[in-house]
Amino acid sequence: MTETADIVIIGAGIVGCSIAYHLAVQGAGSVLVVEKDLVCSGATGKSAGGIRQQFATDLNVRLSLESLKMFHRMQDELGVDPAFRQVGYLFMATTPRELEMFRQQAEFQQRYGIPVRIVSPEDIRRIVHYVRLDDIIGGVYCPADGYAAPYEVTMGYASAARRLGVRIHEQRAVTGVLREGGRAAGVETSRGPIHAPIVVNAAGPEGGLIGEMAGVDVPVKPYRRQIFVTGPLAEFTEEPPLTIDYHRSWYFRAEMGGCLFSGPKDEESTFNTNVDWEHLAESVATAVARVPILEEAEIKRGWAGSYDISPDNNAILGAVPALPGFYLATGHSGHGFMHGPATGKLMAELILTGKTSMDISSLSLDRFRTGKPVREPMTMHEA
Ligand SMILES: Cc1cc2nc3c(=O)[nH]c(=O)nc-3n(C[C@H](O)[C@H](O)[C@H](O)COP(=O)(O)OP(=O)(O)OC[C@H]3O[C@@H](n4cnc5c(N)ncnc54)[C@H](O)[C@@H]3O)c2cc1C
Repeated sequence: MTETADIVIIGAGIVGCSIAYHLAVQGAGSVLVVEKDLVCSGATGKSAGGIRQQFATDLNVRLSLESLKMFHRMQDELGVDPAFRQVGYLFMATTPRELEMFRQQAEFQQRYGIPVRIVSPEDIRRIVHYVRLDDIIGGVYCPADGYAAPYEVTMGYASAARRLGVRIHEQRAVTGVLREGGRAAGVETSRGPIHAPIVVNAAGPEGGLIGEMAGVDVPVKPYRRQIFVTGPLAEFTEEPPLTIDYHRSWYFRAEMGGCLFSGPKDEESTFNTNVDWEHLAESVATAVARVPILEEAEIKRGWAGSYDISPDNNAILGAVPALPGFYLATGHSGHGFMHGPATGKLMAELILTGKTSMDISSLSLDRFRTGKPVREPMTMHEA
C-alpha cells in the first residue's frame, strides 16, 4: 500500500518537533515526522540548552524574544516543565575591541527593551566571585537570559504534536528525496517510500546530506563540540549565569549543583560525536585557569555532539525556489535550541500560508547566492 502524508518532516530534534506541533496547531492535514534514530537524539539532546537575547541582528533578536515568550508559556501550552532557569548570560571581554563590540550590541538590544547592561570587573566579581578576572576588562550581562532542558522541551513538542494527530516514525532513515515534475514529492526511507507534496529538511547537522538527496546545495556541515560536567560544588549552590570567556570561546554554567563547561572544538567538519577523552587534561586546564575552584572538582561525565554550521553561522530557513515543495529549517549554527520554538511557528505559517508573521527572508538559502550573509559577531565565537 502506498504510504502518504500532506507534509513530511525529516528529523525529530527541537526544530522538526516544533514545526510538526505548530503545523498541527495551525490546522495542517496529515503530518509525518521521520527520524532515523529517536526523538531528540541528535544535536538537540547534546545541547547546553542556552537561551539568550544577545544577538546583533533584528531577526535573531526577534526570534529570541518570540522564543522566550514561548519558553515562558510552555508549561501551560505543552504540559511540560521546560526547566527554564533565568540565571542570565554574562559575556566577559579581554580586549578593548571586544568590550566596544559588547557596548554597541547592548545599545542595539536595549532598543528592544532587553535588560542587558555593560558590567565592570567589580560587577562581575559580585555576580561570579570565583572567576579569575585579572585579564578581564568588563563584560555584558543580561539577567533575563538563561537555559532550559532540551530533552523535556523537545519531548513536550513531540508529545503535544502526537496528541494533535502528528505521526512520528522513529528508527526510520530517509535515504532519498523524491522528485516529480520538478517538485518535491516525498521521501525514500529505510522502510519504503512516503509520498508527500511537501518535504521539510529539519535534519540539523545532517541538513547538507538531505540537501544532496534532493539535488539542492544546502551548505550545512557538522562540527564536533564537547561538554564536561563536574560533581557538585559548594560555590554553585547559588546558580551562576551562563558565563562566557569570549576571547577564549569557553563557557560554563551550573548543572545539577556542579559545573558544566565547554570542551574541545573540532576545526574540521566531522560527523564524529565520540568524546575526545585524550584532550580532557587540556580542557580541564582551560577551565581551571578561569575558574580555579574547579581544580578540586571531579569530572563526572562528558558528551559530544555536532554543531550545525552554515557559512555565516546562522540558520537557513524557508522555501527552496529551485525545488517547489522543499523547505529548509537547518544550519542553526549553535543556536537552534533557543530559536527552535519560534522557528517551528514561523515555518508552519510559511508552509501553510506562504506568509510569516515575522519576516524571515534574510535567513533564506538565497542569501549565499546573492552575497548577503547575516553578520552575528557573538555567534562566531559560539556560546
Ligand atoms: C555541545 C553542544 C552545545 C550546544 N549548546 C547550545 C545552546 O546552549 N543553545 C542553543 O540554542 N543551541 C545549542 N546547540 C546547538 C543546538 O543543539 C542545535 O542548533 C539544535 O539542536 C538544532 O536542532 P535541530 O532539530 O535542527 O537538529 P537535531 O537535534 O540534530 O535534529 C535533527 C534530527 O534529524 C535526524 N536525521 C538526520 N538525518 C536523517 C535522515 N537521513 N533520516 C531521518 N532522520 C534524520 C537526526 O537523527 C536528528 O535527530 C549546541 C549544540 C551542541 C552540539
